[in-house]
Amino acid sequence: MPLNKKYKPNNHNMSFIKVKNKKGTSDKTPPSGYSSWLDFWEKKKGTKATRCEALSCSGKPDVGGHVIKDGEGGKEYILPLCFSHNNKSESETYEAWDADLIAVS
Ligand SMILES: [Zn+2]
Repeated sequence: MPLNKKYKPNNHNMSFIKVKNKKGTSDKTPPSGYSSWLDFWEKKKGTKATRCEALSCSGKPDVGGHVIKDGEGGKEYILPLCFSHNNKSESETYEAWDADLIAVS
């Protein structure tokens, strides 16, 4: 029997979702104790952001971007994004791993 399926490591929530950028967030400052939204994401997640978390993007994690889940409404999440993804318009959706989204409470 050929073993031609690719398995991803099992340390991830396996579902990915559609997200889009939330507009009007550039003047929002992170909660006290966090130096930036990327810092907020890293401390909540307990890991360093190593790359843009948009699926299949290999850009650098330049910023902690504010995103919303497509179809969910206004709930905001932080996701490490490269400048290119962070600059997408709010009508453009892209995919990301659900487990990488950190809710802004
Ligand atoms: Zn990117």
